[in-house]
Amino acid sequence: MNSDHVRYIDIDVQSALNRVQSSRYPDMRWSLNPYRGCRHGCVYCYARYTHTFFELNPDREFSTVVFAKRNLPSVLRRELRRSSWRREKVHIGTATDPYQPVEGRYRLTESVLRILRDQLTPATLITKNTMALRDADLMRSLHRSAGFSLSISLITLDAKLARSLEPDVPSPTQRLRVVQAMSRLRIPVSVAIAPIMPGLTDSERQLKDLIMAIYDHGGVVGFYEIFRLYADTRKALFTYLQREHPRLCSWYQRVYGTQGEVNKAYKRTIQARIERIHQTIAPKRHRSPHPTPQGGQLSLFSEGMSHSKNSMC
Ligand code: SF4
Repeated sequence: MNSDHVRYIDIDVQSALNRVQSSRYPDMRWSLNPYRGCRHGCVYCYARYTHTFFELNPDREFSTVVFAKRNLPSVLRRELRRSSWRREKVHIGTATDPYQPVEGRYRLTESVLRILRDQLTPATLITKNTMALRDADLMRSLHRSAGFSLSISLITLDAKLARSLEPDVPSPTQRLRVVQAMSRLRIPVSVAIAPIMPGLTDSERQLKDLIMAIYDHGGVVGFYEIFRLYADTRKALFTYLQREHPRLCSWYQRVYGTQGEVNKAYKRTIQARIERIHQTIAPKRHRSPHPTPQGGQLSLFSEGMSHSKNSMC
């Protein structure tokens, strides 16, 4: 997508921190998103529904109309200075990528990290963008002062497939380089394999190669999650499938039905597959003997999860 086709709108917000009350993520209490909408435009993005709050089209306008919360730093500073603030962990990037291209201009995410560090508040951040490297020093100092972990979202090593599913995102190789660089800087970094796309990124070979590449670059698998088909993602997904993988359309329609989730048999197959791969190839120090379903996510590698837990970006 050409950046000329993206409209950026400044908005002011009343609050920076969002209280999270989700049975799927019981440990997640606060989230923060510097932007609304996301230029990255991933076909499977579950956050498209957030644009309907502004009466915008979740399919076409989620990636072409992006709101920048320009007063977010001052509001956040005020919230963290309250005597009632308990310095609980803040999860950055739960509904939009905090390092999407517009961050280069607004630097809201950079300001947020600095404020969190100054106010000794721990945080996690999830992104697909290599711009995270710009703030590595800040992340490291936040990690030292209060605790920080970075999660890189990566679902496949196949550059062509990634480009079709995630049109405006740095390639898998570039993202692995971020993992490697952050790991060398001793910033806790994990990879979120989220979402696993049935029939597209879920084969034993694909997952094995991906997990091996993650370990080879000094990362760990933070969590994985199988694609959920939310109502406002449906149109983008089926338009994509009809264009790129028509043979999968009826399969997705049948398996996801109106529930938006795959059946239990498929979940069990993927869980067993990942557990088997993990046991075979993970370096000893990263082995979790019994990856267990948790918080709606199917399986979590314990060591990675001690670093990060986010919804998919
Ligand atoms: S999945 Fe993440 S990176 Fe992709 S469009 Fe949604 S918020 Fe942006």
